[in-house]
Amino acid sequence: MSDTIDALRRQVCDLHRELVRYGLVVWTAGNVSARVPGQDLLVIKPSGVDYDELTPGNMILCDLDGNVVEGRHAPSSDTAAHAYVYRHRPDVGGVVHTHSTYASAWAARGEPVPCVLTAMADEFGAEIPVGPFALIGDDSIGRGIVETLDGHRSPAVLMKSHGVFTIGKDARAAVKAAVMCEDVARTVHVSRQLGEPLPIAQADIDRLNFRYQNVYGQRPAAQ
Ligand SMILES: [Zn+2]
Repeated sequence: MSDTIDALRRQVCDLHRELVRYGLVVWTAGNVSARVPGQDLLVIKPSGVDYDELTPGNMILCDLDGNVVEGRHAPSSDTAAHAYVYRHRPDVGGVVHTHSTYASAWAARGEPVPCVLTAMADEFGAEIPVGPFALIGDDSIGRGIVETLDGHRSPAVLMKSHGVFTIGKDARAAVKAAVMCEDVARTVHVSRQLGEPLPIAQADIDRLNFRYQNVYGQRPAAQ
């Protein structure tokens, strides 16, 4: 059990470096968490600690109500939102939050990113939706994430006037969704500067998404 938690502490710590590498965060904003499989526990970044100071040892272990189980620091101020998602989405193993620039610019307008690129159809299978305006301090951010993504293919939601939350089967998948979300938000924004991006037919979005989610990539070697 503690081996699993130690591995997740390392993974969650390392994945925060990816947020920096891809330019998704400034100062101490942004956070990654992972569910501890089979336990009502999660591992998340400490609050207000510089990215350069993050270590596996200062990641925080919390229960799914956001209470600290093990850790010297306070957990991320977004812990309640992450915990709410894990409580209501048993299929989710990782959650990421950023204020990445282009995606947050769409969030500031309260406008979904339309699905006008094949890469978006692959990864998101639909527009990237907008969730409600919600203030930190209770369950309203978590509830907004869960209600907006319920029945939606997109693993990313733009919380209105705030930023991005992404979910995944594990923390790495949620980080990938955050990186891809910013990439397509930027490209569609640039496209908008010169005209109106062309829509992709729903049937083609469906085909692209199915292929990417089920066929693309390296297959496990045959036994
Ligand atoms: Zn935020």
